[in-house]
Amino acid sequence: MSSSRQKVRESIKQLRPYVAGKGFTEISRRYGLDPKEIVKLGSNENPYGPSPQVKEALQRISPERYPEPEELSEALASYTGLPEEMIVIGAGMDGVMETLTRIFLEAGDLTFIPTPTFSYYEILTILAGARPLFSPRGLDFQIQDTIPKDVKMAFLCSPNNPTGNVLKEDELCQLLETTDAIVFLDEAYVEFAEQSLAELVGRYENLVVGRTLSKAFGLAGMRLGYALMPQWMAQEYRRAAPPFFAISCASAAAGVAALADLDYMHKSVDKIRMERERLQKEIKSHPSQGNFLYLKTEEASETFVERFLQRGIIIRDCRPFRGAGEHHVRVTVGTPAENEQFLAAYREIQR
Ligand code: PMP
Repeated sequence: MSSSRQKVRESIKQLRPYVAGKGFTEISRRYGLDPKEIVKLGSNENPYGPSPQVKEALQRISPERYPEPEELSEALASYTGLPEEMIVIGAGMDGVMETLTRIFLEAGDLTFIPTPTFSYYEILTILAGARPLFSPRGLDFQIQDTIPKDVKMAFLCSPNNPTGNVLKEDELCQLLETTDAIVFLDEAYVEFAEQSLAELVGRYENLVVGRTLSKAFGLAGMRLGYALMPQWMAQEYRRAAPPFFAISCASAAAGVAALADLDYMHKSVDKIRMERERLQKEIKSHPSQGNFLYLKTEEASETFVERFLQRGIIIRDCRPFRGAGEHHVRVTVGTPAENEQFLAAYREIQR
């Protein structure tokens, strides 16, 4: 028994597992609530879901066939304005990042991670046997350090999860111009922001921009992500990626249908942005360009979150985000009705 266990790689033993936002099933069981009564504002999902055309497309799939990603690649090229040769896809942006770290990271390598941020960068670093260098963000959550020499890969996130701030173009250019590292810019939430920095791909040999259909397009359950990268990197990606990029025929069909209805996506993004501003003013959280708000709490975040959970409202305790401390929560912007339920609970709790 023990000798078999000893075969587990040392790096796996060091892993702090990814802590996802709580789900309907867990909370309904724990508090005896009807899942329909639960308001889920803990996972930065899009409450409006995907375009109705997605459901129709899903009825036409052929599950007995392997997926064919060509149409999806074409749709992504048209959406991003970049040629297909510079676009790769994966099972969520998580899947894209997995393939990228498999390409670039070896045991002993260093990665650069400004904290607090999305914790999967750290997990992937450790899985590769590499070592993360954490760089605490400044007061307004801007990145303070340049990327140290010897770093192989840097993980930047804009808008940053969980803080909601964006990286400015001149800041990114300066980082890129002072490093040889592969710079991964995570734009999971970019559609909710004022601008994207994706046009810098191609100007820099070492920049890759990750994107997803989980957020603005409302397809989190489909696990569909993509990345924009220089052609040389896309060639390596195609060699290292799992068969069919690990997407399914359902996710490919859903992606194509969602990308064909940009009007629907823009409308849901507009509604979420409006609600974001309304919520932000009332709860006085940090400003945000994502579909979520980062809020400092007087009491311990664990206690604060628990008060909401008891009322059937799921928000995210930010303690698992390294560097966020014990007094921050993240609230996803929901529909007006969901946000009202959140605000009603917030007012009651603040009293
Ligand atoms: N990057 C960031 C910053 C995220 O917040 C998330 C989702 N939690 C992801 C990537 C992963 O997205 P996907 O659903 O496409 O795997």
